[in-house]
Amino acid sequence: MSVRPLIAGNWKMNGLAGESAGQIKALISKANEVASLGCDILICPPATLVGQLAEQAKGTSVAIGGQDCHAHEKGAHTGDISAAMLKDAGASYCLAGHSERRTDHGESNADVKAKAEAAIGAELIAIVCVGETLEQRESGKTLEVVSDQVKNSLPDGATATNTVIAYEPVWAIGTGKTPTTEDVAEVHAHMRKELSTLMSDAGSVRLLYGGSVKGSNAAELMAVEHVNGALVGGASLKAEDFWPIVETGL
Ligand code: PEP
Repeated sequence: MSVRPLIAGNWKMNGLAGESAGQIKALISKANEVASLGCDILICPPATLVGQLAEQAKGTSVAIGGQDCHAHEKGAHTGDISAAMLKDAGASYCLAGHSERRTDHGESNADVKAKAEAAIGAELIAIVCVGETLEQRESGKTLEVVSDQVKNSLPDGATATNTVIAYEPVWAIGTGKTPTTEDVAEVHAHMRKELSTLMSDAGSVRLLYGGSVKGSNAAELMAVEHVNGALVGGASLKAEDFWPIVETGL
């Protein structure tokens, strides 16, 4: 089954208005040079820039997303942002359960599931992130951990249209290390199988790989069976670094 790839950038806590506008402008102009794009392109900037960049990218093939949302639509949650607010600012996607959120903010699978449900409830596409730590990999628990996260973080009502899964081994994020293509293939095939017990359209769900993706390794990672795109951190900050990764999805 052919699944349209998604190449997504996660800017994390990086980006001020001026420089970010320049990067989005450069990305849009690269995308405009392609007659017919074969993949979807997404940038998830810090929340402060979602409105500005969504306005700038309106009507183009670059989508803008949030990096996190609160599980509730509104209320007394100082410092938090709801999925409805991201949608209102022009976002069309939202990450849920990035490992930095799971680690730094103690987010459990139940929290991630609630956030992903809030995202799809606000008509955003939820990108649910899963992945094992180095210790879990070295003790042979990768598939067990990933299964547990997929099963317990998947939002109720998930479909291939409203939900994307990103496999990001924690030890590969921001480290320059990547799993072998065989290891990626094993986890992605496993996730596809797991999803087929949970969703009727599991074959069409986009499964992204994330963790030290860059221009030089993107093509081989994207060629792995059941890899339908990438979630990119460091190499998404500059359009000139991100574009070669996007090209592997075209
Ligand atoms: C990420 O933050 O999701 C990520 C994969 O980061 P990096 O590409 O920098 O490893």
